[in-house]
Amino acid sequence: EVTDAREVALQVFNNFKMIHPDFVFLIDDDLKDETPVKIYRNHLEQVLIILMDNAVKYSQKRKEVHLSVSKNERYVDLAVQDFGEGIAQQDIARVFNRFYRVDKARSRDAGGNGLGLSIAQRLIEGYHGQLTVESVLGQGSVFRISLPLIIKEQKNAD
Ligand code: ATP
Repeated sequence: EVTDAREVALQVFNNFKMIHPDFVFLIDDDLKDETPVKIYRNHLEQVLIILMDNAVKYSQKRKEVHLSVSKNERYVDLAVQDFGEGIAQQDIARVFNRFYRVDKARSRDAGGNGLGLSIAQRLIEGYHGQLTVESVLGQGSVFRISLPLIIKEQKNAD
């Protein structure tokens, strides 16, 4: 299935804006052209919800979430950035593991089972994409979805 990544991102973004009026949501999207990717629409939506939901859950102090949409010749990138608690270096490699939660006592109030990110990463990899994270403890995190851009086939002269 061909899905317009940007269109799905905007829809999820607008929903979060409505659900969390106490947060500032900013979108960085100056793309005018299409961002077609080969993924089942509901799957991309689900992954974005997991990332946005985490960004909100783990930002107690500075309630601000940025979503950016960009592309190059080969990939479409969707990045969800927060300025919340961040993740320590020793935990970063494990946040995609099933049932892993960084600080069980602290994150218990936020709710969850430690499954969201592992499901999200498997889904994206199933479509030949990547889900990666950069984070600094106490400063915030950026989760980046990268999916192969569908390039329109060029007709051969012969
Ligand atoms: P759920 O199963 O409901 O998604 P969860 O949020 O605990 O619960 P994951 O989404 O897999 O599970 O996240 C795993 C852990 O990674 C979290 O418990 C949290 O410690 C850490 N984490 C995930 N996203 C962020 C974020 N944006 N900022 C800080 N820590 C995060």
